[in-house]
Formats: sequence, structure tokens, C-alpha cells
Amino acid sequence: MFTLEDLIKATRGKLISSGMQIFRGASIDTRTIAENDLFFALKGSKRDGHDFLIEALQKSYGAVISKQEDINFQNKTVVLVDDTLIALQNLARYLRKKFRGKVIAVVGSNGKTTTKELIAGMLSKKYKILKTEGNFNNNIGVPLCLSKIEHDTEIMVLELGTNRHGDIKELCEIVYPDYAMITNIGYEHIEGFGSIEGVREGELEILPFVKTVFANGDDEFLMEGLKDFKGNILRFGLSNECDYRAENIKFYDEHVEFDFHADGVSFPVKSSLMGIHNVYNITGALAVATFFGVSKCMLQQAVESFSPVAMRGEIIKINGIEIFFDAYNANPSSMKAALQELARRKKTRKAIAVLGDMLELGELTQPAHEEVGRWIKEMGIDFFVGVGKFMKNALRYVDGEVFDDAQQAAVFLRKQLNGSEIILIKGSRAMKMEQILDILLEGR
Ligand code: ATP
Ligand code: MG
Repeated sequence: MFTLEDLIKATRGKLISSGMQIFRGASIDTRTIAENDLFFALKGSKRDGHDFLIEALQKSYGAVISKQEDINFQNKTVVLVDDTLIALQNLARYLRKKFRGKVIAVVGSNGKTTTKELIAGMLSKKYKILKTEGNFNNNIGVPLCLSKIEHDTEIMVLELGTNRHGDIKELCEIVYPDYAMITNIGYEHIEGFGSIEGVREGELEILPFVKTVFANGDDEFLMEGLKDFKGNILRFGLSNECDYRAENIKFYDEHVEFDFHADGVSFPVKSSLMGIHNVYNITGALAVATFFGVSKCMLQQAVESFSPVAMRGEIIKINGIEIFFDAYNANPSSMKAALQELARRKKTRKAIAVLGDMLELGELTQPAHEEVGRWIKEMGIDFFVGVGKFMKNALRYVDGEVFDDAQQAAVFLRKQLNGSEIILIKGSRAMKMEQILDILLEGR
């Protein structure tokens, strides 16, 4: 929520048409815009928001533009700025500076969205929360979120994403976080960062902005990166040195149970999230929520009622076949975590790994895909179906079939199934591995 006055102060824009003065939030998309939103006409690589201006003005309270348009503004609020994206970011920064509550930023290579949703779910038991929606974690999505701060918002939980140096710093200079949650450091976006050291540097650009960091205490590489940090480090994980720990972890078919321990607090939790990596995500979120004083019973409820975020470790059953659907994205660390979970769930069943290329790995591309082949073999996965040119490298260590695209792989896979298998589906976003599930679900 913001006013025209906020907007003008934040952007130094020029009011060229007058209308409503209070907006629910900013929007950049006429398909989802609400009546009381203000439209920011952003210029993307494919489309220019100015081409949608007439529709935007019909549907909303007004717009921020960077080109004088020869159209009738219909008494809507229209503000002219030099650059609409910078204006959106300046508005967000201005609103952040006015905000008196706390800002928690979630960074790290894997599990940000899941951890962010867990933290928000837990904190909302006690506080009025604002969180980044879905995976909107970049320099457009995060400012859009901040435009929705309300007068009674108490805590913001923001996912900050990065694929190259400078991204986290840029985002922090908008959201000025009070607390950082660092999930882990792994092999991701190597094309942008050059190396895992580069990934760590990129994620740790958050450090100068915060006094307290919640960090995965079992991630030695991350902890080494924090050794010169002068603020407060609160570690979560499984090992004894961690301030917030998961102990007595017991995996069942449909859920996991463990005891959460922290100074003066100890209680059992039960979750339907699969895999040891999710035990970390839950423990990290419990650390933050305990720190913010949410009660044990509220936390137990929040953990138990939380279901996987779409495409991130969902369990789907079709005609006796169990699908571990983890197709949102993939990099070597999350691939390994998912394969371990497949191996753990397999029991007497035939386990099939259906894996798409892991993208943006730069010079690590070939060895990383070979390694996947080695893991499949070592973990005793029975059958491998690959999608994409890089997955062919896995064949160096394991037998299997690799296809050019997900559709071909699905057609092949469907013919192999007899109704008792367990299947992992995973790959980078651009590999569209969800098409495999769609095809398996057809004619169900
Ligand atoms: P992105 O970088 O795309 O925003 P993210 O960091 O937000 O990803 P999630 O969307 O929460 O991560 O999870 C994506 C996938 O990463 C999951 O489906 C799972 O395979 C894997 N994953 C989640 N949490 C962890 C973790 N703590 N460690 C390793 N892998 C994880
Ligand atoms: Mg995410």
C-alpha cells in the first residue's frame, strides 16, 4: 500500500494526469492487475509494458510510464519517470525505509522458497507477515512485494535470488534486511559465478547489511565463509555444535518425525516434507520462529500442516506408481539430495530416476553430469532415463536411455511401467520435466 505522495517522493516523477492517490500495490502485468493497483510499464527483453497501457489504465487506478503517450488517461493517475524499473525499485526502497518492522532475507543455493514459506507459515501464527510470492526473488519480484506493505505488517520474509555477483547487494540495497537466513552453499549458476567460491561470495554479499545470521551449521564451506563475520551467528542443523538442532530423525513412508532442540526448548515435530534436505529447511525455519518467540504448540501445528511447495518434492500416486515430483529445478546439490531420497523410499520397488539436464553449470557441466551417473549407480537406483544433451554424460557410469526432450522420454517411460515403480522426476526449469508427469497422468 502506498500513496501518490510516497511515489512522487520516491521516484521524483512528474505527475501528468491526476486520479486516485492511494494504491494497494504495484503491478507489472495486466493479466493479474487489481483495480486499486498502480501499473508500472516495464520494458522487458521481449515486451514493453507501454504497449499494454490502455488496458492497464482501464483495469487499474493508473500507471507509471517513461514515454509520453498520446492517449487519453481517463482521469487516471499517471506519473512520468526516466526509468520505470528504477522507479519501482526506488518506491520499494522508500517504503522499506518507512517500515518499522523487521525484515528477514532468505538466501542460499537450495531450499530458499521452501524455507521462506516455512518461516512465513510459522511467524504468521503470531505476527502479520508479508512474504515474497512464489519464486519472485529478483529485482522486480522483490520490489513488487514491498509495494504491498500494509500499515500493520510486522515482519517481511523475503527470498533473494542471485545468479551473478552483485545481485544480492543490489537487492539488499532495496530491502535492507535485519536478519539473514542462509540455507546452504552449493553448485548453482556456475556460469555466472565461475566457481563455488564465487557462489559463496555472491550469497554472502548480504553480510554487511545484517547483524544476525541464521546459517546451516553443518555446511562447513558456508561456515568457513562466515568466520570473519562480526555479528551474531545462529547455527541450525543436525550436529551438536548447532544452536538449533534436529535430533532423533525418523523417516516414514508418508512423513518424517524429529525432535527440535534449542536453548531451553525441546519438542517433537512431524512433517510431510520428504528428504533430509527438508529436515534442514524445517529446522532453519524453526530456528527463526523460535527466535521470534512463536510458541511450541503453534510451531508444531505449522510444521504439521505444511505441504510441499508445488513441484518441490511432491509425492503423487498414479495406478500403483509413486512419483517423487521434484521438477522445479536442479543443480548438483539438490540432485544428490533427491536421489538419496529416491534410494531411501525405494525398498523392494524398482526405482527409476528420470533426470533432465542441470543448466548454467559452465565448465562443471560435463563432470557434474558424469557424477550424477555415478550417484545413480552407487545408490542402487534400478533404471535411468535422461533428458537433454548433458545427461548423456551420465551414461559414462550408468546404463540407461537419454532423450532430446521430455516428451520423448515420457513416451518411452510409459511403456516401461508395470504399476509398482517409484519414479523421481527432476531437472532444471528449462527442461520442462513437468511434461513427463502430464503425459503419465494422461488417460489415467
Ligand atoms: P531457486 O534457486 O530456483 O529459487 P530455491 O532455493 O528457492 O530454488 P526451492 O524452490 O525451495 O529452492 O527447492 C527447489 C529444489 O531444491 C527442491 O525441489 C529440492 O530438490 C531442492 N532442495 C530444497 N531444499 C534443499 C536443501 N536444503 N538442500 C539441498 N537441496 C534442497
Ligand atoms: Mg526459489
